[in-house]
Amino acid sequence: MVAPSGRRTGAPDASAPSGTSGRGAGAAQAADAATPIVSGARTDDLGASPPAGPPAAWPALAIPAAALPGVGATRGRQLGAAGLRTVEQVLRHLPRRHEDRSRAVRLGEIREPGTYSACVTVLDVRESRPRPGLSLLQARIADGDVVLRAVWFNQGYLRRVVAPGARLLLHGRVAPDRGGGLAFRSAEVEVVRADRAATPGDPARGGDLLPVYPAVAGLAQRTLRTLVHAAVRGYAEFIPDTVPAGVRARLGLVPAATAWRGVHLPSSAAELEQARRAVVFEEIFHLQVGLLIRRRERAGAVRGFRTAPPGALTSCFLAALPFPLTGAQRRVLREIDLDLAQERPMYRLVQGDVGSGKTVVAAAAMLRAAEGGHQAALLAPTEILAEQHLLSLRRLYGSLCRVELLTGSTPRAARRRLVADLAAGNVAVLVGTHALLEPDVRFASLGLAVTDEQHRFGVRQRDALAAKGRCPDVLVLTATPIPRTLAMTLYGDLDVSLIDALPPGRRPVRTFTRPPASRERVYAFVRDLVRGGRQAFVVCPLIAAQTPTEDDIDGIEDGLPPSEGEEAAAAESFAQRLAAAMPDVRVGLLHGRMPPAVKEEVMSRFVAGEIGLLVATTVIEVGVDVPNAAAIVIEDADRFGLAQLHQLRGRVGRGPHTSYCILIARGSPQRLEVLTRTSDGFAIAEEDLRQRGPGEVLGTRQHGLPELALADPARDGGLLQEARDAARTLLAEDPLLQAPEHTYLRVAVEALFGRLRG
Ligand code: ADP
Ligand code: MG
Repeated sequence: MVAPSGRRTGAPDASAPSGTSGRGAGAAQAADAATPIVSGARTDDLGASPPAGPPAAWPALAIPAAALPGVGATRGRQLGAAGLRTVEQVLRHLPRRHEDRSRAVRLGEIREPGTYSACVTVLDVRESRPRPGLSLLQARIADGDVVLRAVWFNQGYLRRVVAPGARLLLHGRVAPDRGGGLAFRSAEVEVVRADRAATPGDPARGGDLLPVYPAVAGLAQRTLRTLVHAAVRGYAEFIPDTVPAGVRARLGLVPAATAWRGVHLPSSAAELEQARRAVVFEEIFHLQVGLLIRRRERAGAVRGFRTAPPGALTSCFLAALPFPLTGAQRRVLREIDLDLAQERPMYRLVQGDVGSGKTVVAAAAMLRAAEGGHQAALLAPTEILAEQHLLSLRRLYGSLCRVELLTGSTPRAARRRLVADLAAGNVAVLVGTHALLEPDVRFASLGLAVTDEQHRFGVRQRDALAAKGRCPDVLVLTATPIPRTLAMTLYGDLDVSLIDALPPGRRPVRTFTRPPASRERVYAFVRDLVRGGRQAFVVCPLIAAQTPTEDDIDGIEDGLPPSEGEEAAAAESFAQRLAAAMPDVRVGLLHGRMPPAVKEEVMSRFVAGEIGLLVATTVIEVGVDVPNAAAIVIEDADRFGLAQLHQLRGRVGRGPHTSYCILIARGSPQRLEVLTRTSDGFAIAEEDLRQRGPGEVLGTRQHGLPELALADPARDGGLLQEARDAARTLLAEDPLLQAPEHTYLRVAVEALFGRLRG
């Protein structure tokens, strides 16, 4: 029996990426849980670099966050650790979404299961441990004479707020109760202060639309909310307008100060939408101005070298490839060759679905740089992926050129040697994480900068790597199909190549959805596969059951702990159970909180085939490439976004074996149906967008565009175009942003792109 019966909730995997680390993005509620973003930069297991926080641009607001009322040394540190060091960064800490609590109902009106908000008084509370690993908090709640039950699983720390006599605003799912009645299950909890009116519509609460912020470790959501709002009340008026007045008037955009206030403290849905539009426009406008300036700079750049035509190294490399390139790969390589033949630097995006073989294309391009006497760098979003690339590149290059790895966990002495070697030009290709961007990492001559999984980075990081050379060629790789309008906007400065075919012999991954009740059969099947020599993954959305912290209270309000109720699989306990149930299978565990050396060891044992079944969090989402892996079971699949599931599924079906993806889903498998039907990443992305487009009050952060925290591609297409036009018009009039009225704009754009030469 392998089905975990100790139903556990755990802390969200702080390092879980995708669609979103750090903070949630949100494919409906689902990806929220599994996929945290930090505004600005993603922070996976990206080495030791502290989060950068939102970019700062408003000089008048470069005041330490500690100046805010209610922020002392401790809170200052907590905010700082999340990259919120100045008042401006606090102001730019945008809500991930807003919860509409205006529709609070009387308990008496709740007659059937559903999602409700209700203002209640706690009558009594009981805590119990029905079995190991499960703690239960049960309360009787009342509203007038009507009494209902509310239960929370493994959230014992809530006893501090769910106390007899407490007035609470509950928000969440109401489901049939054991006794036949109805009960709130793991509802989100908001304390209704005695000094405030009990009704949710009370203006003192800042309206019914309650902003939900990306979590800051150590700060409860309501504390964070109070601090951000103090910043808004004290400082929003100093936020300068960077969008020309004419454009603002024509598009009916509210002034910046109003917009930022409205996003944090909307008094109505209409005000929120108006504010959101203005903030989105501002974001896109800055991006467009910067991209256009960058493009102009590049067009005029004279870097004094062009990459040498392919020579002996390249022929050796191509001849020694373990497989013939696909037609699509050859075409993209030709496009790259044409770019490299120019003196103008290459600026190219290679888009190709998961498994289409982007790595070998990048490898060929990097070898061209090395052959021409320059160096190449490959930036990856996670250490696991960087390590994988190191292995693949060493395998592909053999002795043709020297490849090294630099990550946040490279030991100091080794790092020192590596940095020296690099500066001396003795390393041809350097692979790594954000650690590559540190200032003391200098190249003798960087000829080509490659960013893998581009959607996990921002424009700034892409540029930071390129800035380590004199106008190097730039290649960015992504598997995320981006809607057309958005691609134009974001990559308007890039040429695009498409790897539109998979290597031959790939059979589509056979995908099924199964209810939790079928787990036993699913795992019996997986066990047989592994015994037959294949390998498999099990993906769990959470790491482990553990003592909850203040942080998890945020989680509750963020809907992070199991929104569907009690049981979210925890990788740790899962791995234990599976190991116990399959004594003849070697089970491994991988998650973002493991020390890097351990992660590395687990991964290399899996690559070597020593681990048969790898239980992991979404850290394996990008890049893990083990052709012998033939099955992936995704637990709690309904908690993930479609695009993310597609990416996870891409971990299998990379070799000659028939592969399987089994989505264990309790809730609504219809949502996942598109995955069982198609393996076309574009179709899936479209469906993903359709599913969560209109439902959310705010746009999500799932499109992998950290700069556009609030943009919603489904709704903002028109705005994108407007921003592009406005940026063009403005730059035609003032190409160097020298007019006094463009000072703030220039500052904002430079905050995003670094110094502009104009
Ligand atoms: P992605 O585009 O997702 O980054 P990878 O570059 O990791 O894909 O390639 C996926 C797998 O396909 C790797 O195991 C790689 O060796 C293999 N591969 C790449 N190109 C080919 C090809 N032309 N023929 C066969 N296998 C290939
Ligand atoms: Mg890849």
